[in-house]
Amino acid sequence: MGRELQIATAAARRPLAKARRVGIKVGSGLIASPGAGLDQTRIATLADELAGLASEQKEIALVSSGAIAAGVARLGLSRPRSIPEKQAAAAAGQSALMWHYEQAFARHGVKVAQVLLTQEDISHRSRYLNARNTLLALLRFGVLPIVNENDTVAVEEIKVGDNDNLSALVAHLIDADLLVLLTDMDGLYTGDPGRDPGAKRIEIVESVTDELRQLVWQKAEGLSIGGMLTKLEAAQKATASGIPMVIASGREPGVLRRLFKGEPVGTYFLPKGDRLTARKRWIAFAVPPQGRLTVDPGARKALTERGRSLLPSGVVSVEGEFQSGEVVALALADGKEFARGLVNYDAAELRRIQGGKTADIEQVLGYKSFDEVIHRDNLVVL
Ligand code: GLU
Repeated sequence: MGRELQIATAAARRPLAKARRVGIKVGSGLIASPGAGLDQTRIATLADELAGLASEQKEIALVSSGAIAAGVARLGLSRPRSIPEKQAAAAAGQSALMWHYEQAFARHGVKVAQVLLTQEDISHRSRYLNARNTLLALLRFGVLPIVNENDTVAVEEIKVGDNDNLSALVAHLIDADLLVLLTDMDGLYTGDPGRDPGAKRIEIVESVTDELRQLVWQKAEGLSIGGMLTKLEAAQKATASGIPMVIASGREPGVLRRLFKGEPVGTYFLPKGDRLTARKRWIAFAVPPQGRLTVDPGARKALTERGRSLLPSGVVSVEGEFQSGEVVALALADGKEFARGLVNYDAAELRRIQGGKTADIEQVLGYKSFDEVIHRDNLVVL
C-alpha cells in the first residue's frame, strides 16, 4: 500500500475511536462448532472483551447467532430437516445461548437482555418503534441487549433470514455510531485467501458496488457462515444510512480494542453522507417495497439532485398492488432502483393519474388527497 493511502486510511479510521454506541454481530461459526454446539470458551472471551468496552462507556448491542447450532447439539439431531425441526432446535438452543451469555457477562457484572425479532416486527411501523424504544431503554439502563432472529415463529415470508442483515437493522434501531461484524475472516479479500495466495485484504470500501458484489459472489463458496454477500448487504444498509461498518476477525484477541484505537484491522466500509433520520432509515431499509414505480429521467433528476417530491407527471409505469402509505421502490426504465418512498396513492389510483398533471388529479379520480405521489419528506434516495 502506498504511503499516501496509508495516511488516508489512518485519517479515515479516526472517527471510529469516537464511536460510542456500537452494534456488534457474531456468527455461529465463531461461537459454535458443527455437532459440538456452543463453544463456552469463545463466548467467555467475547464477553470479556465486550464487558471491557462497556466499562469504558460504550453502549453495545450484540447480535448473536448460534441458536440453531446449539439446539441441534442439545437435541442430539444429526441435521434438522423440516422447518419445524429447525425451529425446535432454535428454541432449545436460544435458551442455551442466553444461559452461556448470562454466565459469561455476570462475571463482569454486566446485565444482558434477550431481544428476538422478525422482519415483520421491523416492517411494522409501530412494532419497529416499540423495539427501538425497548432497545434504547435497555441501553439507558446499562443493559447489553443480545438480539437474534425469532426463529421459532419466523417462516420465509416474515424472516430477515440472516443475522448480517439483522445486525444492520439493529444498528438502525439503536442509531449506532458503528456496526462491527465479527467473523472467521479478518476482513473482505480480493479473492479466496485459502486458494489464492495473491488475495489481499481490502482495507477500505468506499462504496458497495456491483463489481464488489460480483467479486464476493464468485468467491463466496467456502467463506464463513452467512457468506460475504449478506455482509455486503449489511454494509449497504448501514453505510447508506451514514453508519460505518467494519468486518473484522472474531478470532483475534483484542481486535475490538485495536479497532477503536484506529488501527487498520479488518475491512472498513465508509459511511455515505449524513446520517439518515430514524424515519427515513425505516422507509429505506426496514420495509420490503410493496411495488415499483418507473419514473422518467427528468423526475429522477428532480428527486435526486433538487430534493423535490415525486409528482404524477414523472411516473411512467406502476408495478404491484400496494395501498397508499406503503413503501414503493423508484426506478428508471433500466430497472435500477434509486430511491424508496411512502406513496400517497394506491396502485389503482396511480395507474389512472400517472403521466398526468397535478391539477388534473381531482378530475380524473373525483377527489384529490395529495398533490404529490411521494412527498420529499417521505422519500429516500439510495
Ligand atoms: N438465527 C440463526 C441462529 O441463531 C442464525 C442466522 C444467521 O447466522 O445468519 O442460529
